[in-house]
Amino acid sequence: MMAGYVDMHVHTTASDGLLTPTEVVREASRHQLTAIAITDHDTTGGIEEALGAGSALRLEVVPGVELSTIHQDREVHILGYFIDWNDSRLQQVLSRIVNSRYNRAVKMVDKLRSLGVDISFERVKVLAQGRVISRPHIARAMLEKGYISDIKEAFTADYIAEDGRAYVPRYKISPAEAIDLIRSARGVAVIAHPGLEKIDDSEIQELKRHGLQGVEVFHSEHSREQQQYYYEIAQRQQLLITGGSDFHGDRDERRVLGAIRVPYYLLSRVSDCAGKR
Ligand code: AMP
Ligand code: MN
Ligand code: MN
Ligand code: MN
Repeated sequence: MMAGYVDMHVHTTASDGLLTPTEVVREASRHQLTAIAITDHDTTGGIEEALGAGSALRLEVVPGVELSTIHQDREVHILGYFIDWNDSRLQQVLSRIVNSRYNRAVKMVDKLRSLGVDISFERVKVLAQGRVISRPHIARAMLEKGYISDIKEAFTADYIAEDGRAYVPRYKISPAEAIDLIRSARGVAVIAHPGLEKIDDSEIQELKRHGLQGVEVFHSEHSREQQQYYYEIAQRQQLLITGGSDFHGDRDERRVLGAIRVPYYLLSRVSDCAGKR
């Protein structure tokens, strides 16, 4: 029986994190975590490197993913744990999403330029290191050129917030499709940070009917009340309880690696459900 603490929600440079998978694993080891799950947005590109670093440092790395979906005009993020990341159906959908991310980033840069923000798509690509492009990469290009003084400022109505003047939507699947995709890749499907989108009891119940298996109860940006609220929902609906920091590097000091103390047994329960359809 393993003990210690885990962080089940971590981003790397494969998506919009600032640390490479190897650096993230080193950081986790420095924080004396027992295990971390790599949950990059819409990509599994960081998993193999993290697994390699994990076995060198004797830190368990769980292959995961975080899928952005759209549900009644709201973004709902679905985490997948213990996925078979080589699953061909999963990879097909991911590449469609990644292409759409690329095309919408081109359009957002065009819109920003027409609003007088002189950044280049080439620079955004460099900042994304040739991997999956997301809005933080555009924000970083704006920051470099002094148009904003903080990444958060890019996520406002003048720029690339969802209701922003330069925002462009991208291809998104539904939560039900994401859950199905994760489970068909032998993974465990969990709703991420439901408190951020104020997902309620009945919506979680509906997602459960679509195969949802767990709720991310512990998250850096959940209040104590939200933590309690989702804990009770998970208990009542017999869903798994997970937690993680949603670490992205040093972008946001509220999301510190390992700061959410999630005991190893919660990860064990998730692992027991992997591969069950
Ligand atoms: P995208 O997936 O390209 O639409 O970009 C979404 C990402 O932007 C999220 O995963 C966060 O990392 C980041 N993000 C969203 N809202 C904010 C915000 N208000 N401040 C900073 N970063 C944000
Ligand atoms: Mn992100
Ligand atoms: Mn998320
Ligand atoms: Mn995340």
